Amino acid sequence: MAHSKGFDHLIVGAGVAAAAAAKAIRERDPSASIGIVGREPDGPYYRPNLSKSLWLDDSTSLDDGWLLGDDDGVELITGVAATRLHPQSQAVSLSNAEQIGYEQLLLATGASPRTLPTLPPGDRVFYYRTVDDYQRLREVARPGSKAVVVGGGYIGAELAAALASNDVAVTLVIPTRTVQSNLFPPDLAKRVTETFRSRGVTVKAGARVMSGTATDGGVRLETEAGTTLTADYVVFGIGVTPNIKLAECAGLKTDGGIVVDEYLSTSVPGIWAAGDVAHYPDALLEMRRVEHVDNAEHQGARAGRDMVAATRRRTLKPYTYTPIFWSDLFDYGYEAVGEIDSSYATVEDFSPDLSSGVIYYLLDGHVRGVLLWNVWDATDKAKRLIGDTSARSIRASELKGRIPLG
Ligand code: FAD
Ligand code: NAP
Repeated sequence: MAHSKGFDHLIVGAGVAAAAAAKAIRERDPSASIGIVGREPDGPYYRPNLSKSLWLDDSTSLDDGWLLGDDDGVELITGVAATRLHPQSQAVSLSNAEQIGYEQLLLATGASPRTLPTLPPGDRVFYYRTVDDYQRLREVARPGSKAVVVGGGYIGAELAAALASNDVAVTLVIPTRTVQSNLFPPDLAKRVTETFRSRGVTVKAGARVMSGTATDGGVRLETEAGTTLTADYVVFGIGVTPNIKLAECAGLKTDGGIVVDEYLSTSVPGIWAAGDVAHYPDALLEMRRVEHVDNAEHQGARAGRDMVAATRRRTLKPYTYTPIFWSDLFDYGYEAVGEIDSSYATVEDFSPDLSSGVIYYLLDGHVRGVLLWNVWDATDKAKRLIGDTSARSIRASELKGRIPLG
């Protein structure tokens, strides 16, 4: 099939990593042609705003989050999915029956929300991820309305807090006893959960939503234990699945994500991957996949620069950055680096009033993650500690005070 068009640099997926890559390519090569194919109707958007500032900060508007403008010189092909890769002929088939050629290809397809098979998305059912989800949720999330939020991870916690702060009556359904218990040690998770309750959120702990129905008047949800919950609408944050199918079908190496080397190059030369979808060798933490925006931004930019270097047959530079992430929940905020996994041994170093603290996550005596609770500008110290303890183990008793509380 003849290509309907071709680009020096083609990016599949129009999200955070794609925008960072396009900007980096443009910076290095003012005349390169850059195309981005995205299946959502919108161009790249800064997703963190969708669950935080757009609900909590009146000075933030939707327009603040668009990541590319006309000045970037990128051809955006939106509302169209890439359906097949053809590495041999360096082309991508699209859902509109076109085929596009490329010299370098970046896969930045991100991840898709997990869904309940029996409950499709709709006016009252949100599997929350996109600008369109935000706009539709705004329509129904009026003060006094009744919402069920399902899942006690990032989306569930942030949106329950956001909706409650907008005078919505929120029931948060979590499978565990406490909110974000997979991240926080038990005492902190308990304090956070108490805060949710004190801010008016009904926390239904130890419950898993298994099925549901939506009607014109609302939603009806059934839990594993057989309880029925009703609300005006439901917002799910029950995890995501990386979008690796295109890569898999084209024979690229995958392992839960698209496997890349330290240059973010996939197993097929000329095809790169970045962001939520990339399974990459972290300089401090070995092979991993990270579902956070700082990673998407840095990997996208690195991949973009190396794509330009590859077209010029120049030496590539490795991706050596270990990303951070953060969240805000009511008056709390934190930044974190590495493996924030409450199943690890933890050392907690809190101020006497518990308002700020540092939590160290240890695996076999090595610090693998650090959570900075209301402690700011310390992520570099946390990375140094992870690096310093990667080769030699450290005793838990040596950790308190390693990173000052402020
Ligand atoms: P995405 O931004 O998801 O972009 C991937 C794009 O590819 C999507 O638009 C998708 O539709 C498209 N696509 C997929 N398959 C195809 C295909 N076959 N053809 C065409 N297009 C395709 N992280 C933080 O660190 N801090 C935060 O505070 C934070 N808040 C968040 C709030 C929300 C509501 C959400 C949803 C996420 C948040 N994240 C946060 C996570 C962060 O946004 C992601 O890690 C980041 O967006 C990943 O970037 P990406 O480019 O890899 O994927
Ligand atoms: P998540 O953090 O993985 O949390 C999903 C939660 O839902 C888990 O606690 C899970 O419990 C629970 N769950 C799964 N099925 C359930 C069910 N049927 N009923 C009730 N609970 C259920 O995923 P997420 O919150 O959906 O976030 C999606 C993505 O957005 C992630 O990539 C995340 O990193 C990103 N994000 C990041 C931020 C941030 O960095 N601040 C903010 C928002 C979003 P089990 O594990 O026990 O199944």
